Amino acid sequence: TSTTRIFSGVKPTGHLTLGNYLGAVRQWVESDQHRADALFCVVDLHALTVEHDPARVRRLSRQAATLLLAAGLDPTLCTVFVQSHVDEHTRLSYLLECTAADGEMRRMIQYKEKSARERATGGSVRLSLLTYPVLMAADILAYRADEVPVGDDQAQHVELTRDLAVRFNQRYGQTFTVPRAVLPPVAARVMDLQDPTSKMGKSHAETSGIVYLLDEADVVRKKVMRAVTDSATDVVYDRAERPGVANLLELLAACTGTAPDTLAAGYGSYGALKRDTADAVVELLRPVRERHAELCADPAYVDGVLRDGARRARELARPTVDAAYRAIGL
Ligand code: ADP
Repeated sequence: TSTTRIFSGVKPTGHLTLGNYLGAVRQWVESDQHRADALFCVVDLHALTVEHDPARVRRLSRQAATLLLAAGLDPTLCTVFVQSHVDEHTRLSYLLECTAADGEMRRMIQYKEKSARERATGGSVRLSLLTYPVLMAADILAYRADEVPVGDDQAQHVELTRDLAVRFNQRYGQTFTVPRAVLPPVAARVMDLQDPTSKMGKSHAETSGIVYLLDEADVVRKKVMRAVTDSATDVVYDRAERPGVANLLELLAACTGTAPDTLAAGYGSYGALKRDTADAVVELLRPVRERHAELCADPAYVDGVLRDGARRARELARPTVDAAYRAIGL
């Protein structure tokens, strides 16, 4: 009867969004850190896989870590750390690269989308963009995590992680725990308010379709009120045919705990739905923004949390990664 181990992370490729919060961070805060031995990581190496300004990555890593604490991760309950502070991730990644196949990496949806985006903007595609899911597998497997709480967009990468764990174990002997993805019941994929057919992504160019955790209340309100819906006027929950309205209903559902279709029945117009959703999101984010400001005033506290977090993470990861090298006979 060992405790459940949980690992999850966030990339410092942009400011954290409402999608990151509802799809992942809120579960970490409200459930995971209380019920399991949980590790949460700012995965800064992953931010280097696309075009980036190094100084900005550094700033965003710090901001992400501060926001995770502001959102309610409690370092007395869980481990919060930065990926590049713990060498075991890259040490293990190489062994997993020797386990993964070129073809299965090229099939990853995020790779296809992001590499197309890099090419379209005249950039070159970094090799690390292709191998990024392998490093992510290493992030997870190094801690023998049982569960990986993520949004829907990461489910395919967790599936790959399972495949690599099983394959490694079969080839070299039992070494890794085979983890499973855990998705939130609602808002597993929060959509862009201006383009409800694409996900609200922090790495996308900043638009009024993306709500950031640090947006001021009036900015949040404006973004929600201007959300694209459709030409119909009745409120029904239909993700395929009415994605804009469905997105608003899911946001309100995630804030209130009432199911989206139940909520839909209570609204006769988009205006009222948008107003209530805006209010709910503003209230949801208010304490996070306030706590973030407090923590920014205490950088030594954040430094200490990250230092302790890296130490604990290293202690957990090293034996597993050593075991992986030994399993191969190295
Ligand atoms: P992003 O894609 O915004 O750069 P990350 O890859 O850093 O985000 O993901 C951090 C966590 O947030 C992951 O668990 C991911 O599945 C989740 N997530 C990201 N965007 C969304 C979204 N729009 N809706 C729900 N969850 C999301």
